[in-house]
Amino acid sequence: MASKCDRCSEPPIHFLRYSGQHLCSDHFLDLVGRRVKKEMRAQHTIEKGRRIGIAVSGGKDSLVVLRMVNEIVRPFRDVDIVALTIDEGIAGYRPSSLDITGGITKELGVEWHLSDYRNLFGKDLDDMVKESDMGPCSICGILRRNALNRAAKEADCGVLVTGHNLDDMAQTVLMNVMQADVQRLARLGPHMDPIPGLIPRSMPLRTTPETETYLCALLLGIPIHGEECPYAETAKRGHYRDLLLKAEEETPGTRHSLLKFRDHISPLIPRGRSHVSSCTRCGEAVVEKGEKPICRGCLLLDELGIGKEE
Ligand SMILES: [Zn+2]
Ligand SMILES: [Zn+2]
Repeated sequence: MASKCDRCSEPPIHFLRYSGQHLCSDHFLDLVGRRVKKEMRAQHTIEKGRRIGIAVSGGKDSLVVLRMVNEIVRPFRDVDIVALTIDEGIAGYRPSSLDITGGITKELGVEWHLSDYRNLFGKDLDDMVKESDMGPCSICGILRRNALNRAAKEADCGVLVTGHNLDDMAQTVLMNVMQADVQRLARLGPHMDPIPGLIPRSMPLRTTPETETYLCALLLGIPIHGEECPYAETAKRGHYRDLLLKAEEETPGTRHSLLKFRDHISPLIPRGRSHVSSCTRCGEAVVEKGEKPICRGCLLLDELGIGKEE
């Protein structure tokens, strides 16, 4: 590590291997703040009077993005933000992150909306998992999407900000490439070309590596909720995370290259959606065609035996 920050005479706290920079804490936070601002501007324009929804799980990335976006929009009186949290119903995991989120939104004076699987879908995730052969992450992925979109619509948000960092993005791109899943790659946010009925996703931390969001959380005094989701080990993501860590170690900048690859190729992929309608049960957008359109969330609830009869 160099003895001085590249921009001032303070001691550096972080070396950014992929760009060769040594930065002190102030200049490091300044750099991440600028990236967040730049990504927000490039990804979306918020219509006047509509709010920015921030998906806050209580994990470090979501709290860092909440803090940073709040800081950016505070000088503008006509921009409002709202924190949206989904309680999946995971005993021993979710409750402590809810306490942290409640505390931080209160401290920042940000409105907080909390919705839960039990009220939305009739059951906690824990019960759905017990009674089904489906993997918890498959169930949760579909339902969270549905729940967050509904919450963002109810709170009148023009955009839904998520805390996805560079590692998350690069893992997803690599996974889609290795599984030849072109349509999924095309659907990956940020959504510059929104689908009616779906609140577009914005990912202002997408160019910031996970080690750096962790460092931001430490420097900003954000409490790090140590518990891991008890279902996390069933995710196949771990395999791609290990591959990428190795690739990044050998060739710094690999994660950024994967993200650039996505940005170049995404606009060239035909979306393959001819018709967007509303789910006849819950009103969420459905991209598939059909006589009676039903969304993936409602189809899943049918499979779990808790779908609502029409
Ligand atoms: Zn400095
Ligand atoms: Zn539905």
